[in-house]
Amino acid sequence: LAVRGVQALSPYQPGKPIEELARELGLDPAAIIKLASNENPLGPSEKALAAAREALADLCLYPDGNGFELKQALAKRFGVEMSQITLGNGSNDILEVIARCFADADAEVIFSQYAFAVYPLVTQAIGARGVAVPARDWGHDLDAMAAAVTDRTKLIFVANPNNPTGTVHHGDAMLAFLEKVPERVLVVLDEAYCEYLQGDGYADGVELLSRFPNLIVCRTFSKAWGLAALRVGYSISSPEIADILNRVRQPFNVDSIALAAATAVLADEDYLKRSCDVNAAGMKQLETAFAEMALPYIPSSGNFIAVEVGERAGDVYQGLLQRGVIVRPVGGYGMPRHLRVSIGLPEENARFVEALKQTLESLG
Ligand code: PMP
Repeated sequence: LAVRGVQALSPYQPGKPIEELARELGLDPAAIIKLASNENPLGPSEKALAAAREALADLCLYPDGNGFELKQALAKRFGVEMSQITLGNGSNDILEVIARCFADADAEVIFSQYAFAVYPLVTQAIGARGVAVPARDWGHDLDAMAAAVTDRTKLIFVANPNNPTGTVHHGDAMLAFLEKVPERVLVVLDEAYCEYLQGDGYADGVELLSRFPNLIVCRTFSKAWGLAALRVGYSISSPEIADILNRVRQPFNVDSIALAAATAVLADEDYLKRSCDVNAAGMKQLETAFAEMALPYIPSSGNFIAVEVGERAGDVYQGLLQRGVIVRPVGGYGMPRHLRVSIGLPEENARFVEALKQTLESLG
């Protein structure tokens, strides 16, 4: 019954839930650690939690369909107009709405090899043709992506940093890329992990918006802001693009608890700083451990890292599961020799490293 693009879809594969593994192993869920979905290991911000609790009192009312307070807070933070912002049920929602608004079955949509799984998914769902451009050094080959534009190209998805590779492009490279893309082609700059990059010449998409009217910057509260369960993302673009996205999105796509918590967390700079500090320290901890174990890894600018464990990555993944550690296989991304591990708290990282050592030893 389904249309052609949808019939051929494989569903997005989320990380294995803790409860499922606990049942399989007959273990207490508390004994299991999940480093599989690039979640924030700190737990939620107290300020966000308090705001969410308060919002529960209005559970029988519809949320503010325009998300006024959250948009106002975002506009102030980034020095943009509220009319440039679109809110989404996670940034995945926005990625999907973008595809529906700006591409159709005749369109080509460009993304990189090893790019975030949702880009091919939303492309296929609307029956458009996905063009996966071979990566360079695991990252986006921006020159090749610009060169892949044809008369039919409508959209280009660029994740910066990219998931699952963690690769990043800096200002000059992004600028050169955007200058090459014709204005009739929209560039979706997915900055889900941008908060983890502290300065360092990062190509901040919001700063590029005034020069490139065909740019849409997508961000999320799921990672450094620690609100993955609540599903809040947003895009910043020209008001014209935002107007179109806002026509097509569901009228109440972000619920009132999520709106309240996201607005509150934006004022919690301490939380954001702790997220970034814990991530930076955890990243060093894992890089050091991988170097000691002589395991190659892809240097990452996100809150995760892809480590090369070799052709038995599937067995290593299983071995880690048996030891109560959930990571993410990335064979589905065309990276069958790697596992992606999210950065956890220091003790979680240490447990993962120990389980990895034991697993590799037992596999011989
Ligand atoms: N973009 C990228 C690159 C991601 O890795 C993710 C989360 N895995 C998302 C977007 C979507 O995040 P969310 O829907 O939780 O905002």
